[in-house]
Amino acid sequence: MAFVARVKPRAIGLRGRWPLQVHAPCRMYSQHPAHHTTTEHPFRVAVIGSGPAGFYTTYKLMAKIQGTKVDMYESLPVPFGLVRFGVAPDHPEVKNCQEKFEEVASSPDFNFIGNVSVGTKSDHPDGLTVPLASLFRHYNAIIFAYGAAQDRKLGIPGEDQLKGVYSAREFVGWYNGLPEHANLNPDLTQGDEAVVIGQGNVALDVARMLLEDVDVLRKTDIAAHALETLSQSRVKRVHVVGRRGPMQAAFTIKEVRELMKLSDVSFHPVDTALLPTDLKSLPRAPRRLMEMLAKGTTATSQSPSETSKSWSLDFCLTPKAFSSSSPDSNQLASTTFERTTLSSSPFDPNAYALPTGESLTLPSSVAFRSIGYKSTPLPEFQDINIPFDERRGIISNDGHGRVQHEERTRGAEMSHGSFPGLYCAGWVKTGPTGVIASTMENAFATADAIIEDWVSRTPFLNVDRKCHGWEGVRSEVLKSGDEKRVVDWSGWRRIDEAERERGKERGRLREKFTRTGEMLSVLG
Ligand code: FAD
Repeated sequence: MAFVARVKPRAIGLRGRWPLQVHAPCRMYSQHPAHHTTTEHPFRVAVIGSGPAGFYTTYKLMAKIQGTKVDMYESLPVPFGLVRFGVAPDHPEVKNCQEKFEEVASSPDFNFIGNVSVGTKSDHPDGLTVPLASLFRHYNAIIFAYGAAQDRKLGIPGEDQLKGVYSAREFVGWYNGLPEHANLNPDLTQGDEAVVIGQGNVALDVARMLLEDVDVLRKTDIAAHALETLSQSRVKRVHVVGRRGPMQAAFTIKEVRELMKLSDVSFHPVDTALLPTDLKSLPRAPRRLMEMLAKGTTATSQSPSETSKSWSLDFCLTPKAFSSSSPDSNQLASTTFERTTLSSSPFDPNAYALPTGESLTLPSSVAFRSIGYKSTPLPEFQDINIPFDERRGIISNDGHGRVQHEERTRGAEMSHGSFPGLYCAGWVKTGPTGVIASTMENAFATADAIIEDWVSRTPFLNVDRKCHGWEGVRSEVLKSGDEKRVVDWSGWRRIDEAERERGKERGRLREKFTRTGEMLSVLG
C-alpha cells in the first residue's frame, strides 16, 4: 500500500517550490509480513555510485525498511558524482543537496566504500576494483546507480584528429577538478572564436565558463588549473549551435538568462523568423523563454561592438566537419555546418531538422561537442546476463527500477521477468536527462519498488542465509595492503576539511584536489 506524501524539498535537500508529491509507503515495514530483518540478519544492500540517485534511494530505503544496512561503493575517493564534478562552480546553491546526503551518511547503518570501483577497472591508478560477482554473494539487493560516464560522439571528420576539439564532458570534468580529466589542459589561446555544438544546459554551462569574468569564478570552487587557463583565454566569441530552432532547443530559461546577464558580454540577435509572433498562445515555459530571446534580440543597451565578449545561439545548423587551416596543421581552425530546415512549422516543438545542402563555415579555434552523456554496461553484465539497452543507454528495467531480462516461454514468445534483488536508479535507469530533482524522484520510485517487493516477499538475493556485505566482499577480494586505500566516510570528511582549509588560505570556499593521489595523501 502506498500513499502520496507531501514532502518539503528542503527536507530532502532541494530548494524550490513545494509540496512535491512523492510516493512513499505509509509506514516502516519492520512489523509487516515482509521478509524478516533482525540485528543478526539485516537487509543488506549494495549501492553502486554515490551521486544523487545512490543517496536518494538509500535515504528512502533506510527510512522505510527498518534494519536496512547500505554499503555505498564509489570509484572515486570522494562522493556526490555530478553534484561535485558536473554542476557548474558558479551554481553553489544547486549543491545544497549534499547536506541531505551528509545526513544520510551519518547513519550507523550507512557505510561509504570510496576509491572502490565495482565490476570495472578503476580509471585512476590508485583505485581498487571489486568484481560484481562478489557483491552477488554478500548482499540481498544491489542497486546500480553509476550514472553516465561516457559521451556521445558526432562521428564527423577531424573530431578525433584535430587539436582544439573537446567533449563538453571532459571540459566540465576538467574545470570541476575530476581527476580523470586533470590533464586535459584545453588550449584557449589559438584564436577568438569558440563553437559549442549542442543546445542543452550543459552547452550553456560551457559557454558561460568561457565568457564569465575570471574574477567571479575565482570565488567559486572551480579547479585552480581551470582558473589559470581561463585567465589566459583569448576566446571572445562563443557560438552555441543547434540543429533545430529555438522552439525545439533543450536549454531552459534560467541558464539563458544567466548568460544574458553576464557583464561586458552581449548577445547576437536571433533570426526573428524562428520566434513565434503570437507568444500569448504558447504554454508558460516556452512563452517566457521566447520572450527572453526576443528581448535579448532587440535590446539596444549593449551591442556586440560595445562589449569585449559576445555569444549567439546559432539555429538550424548540423555539423559536418572540423578543419585545420592547412594540410600540415593539426590545429582546429574552422567548423563546417550544413544548414537545415524544419520539417514543419518552426513553432512546432516536435519539428525535426531536414538537410538543405547549403553549407556554412564558422571560424573556430576551439570546439566543444555537447550532445549528451552516455551510460555503458559494466563488463560483467554479459557473463551475468544482465541486459543493457544500448540504444537508450540504460539498464533494461521495468520503468520502476527493477532490472529486467527477457525470457522465451514454451510457446517461444518473449516475456519479461525481473532479476531477484537487482535494481537501478538515476541516469543509468532513465538515460542521461533531467536535473537533480527529477533524479531524486526516479530514485524514490526505485526505492518504492524495492519496498513493495520486500513487503510482498518477492525473491531477493541470498534471503536464506546471513549476508556479510562489505566484510564478505573485502575478505574475498582485497589483498593485504589494499585496505589502506579504501576511503570511508571519515576519510572523505578529512579530505573535505583539507580542501576547505586550502580554500580558506586563498579566500575561496574550497580548493579541490584534482588528483586521487593528493586526496589519498591527506589520509596518510
Ligand atoms: P552521477 O551523479 O553521475 O553519479 C554516479 C556516481 O557513480 C559517480 O560518483 C561515479 O563516480 C560513480 N560510479 C560510476 N561507475 C562506478 C563503478 N563501476 N563503481 C562505483 N562507482 C561508480 N542538475 C541540477 O539540478 N542542476 C544543475 O545545475 C545541474 N548541472 C549539471 C551540469 C552537468 C555538466 C551535468 C552533466 C549534469 C548537471 N545536472 C544538474 C544533472 C545532475 O547532475 C544529474 O541529474 C545527477 O547527477 C544524476 O545522478 P546519478 O546519481 O544518476 O549520476
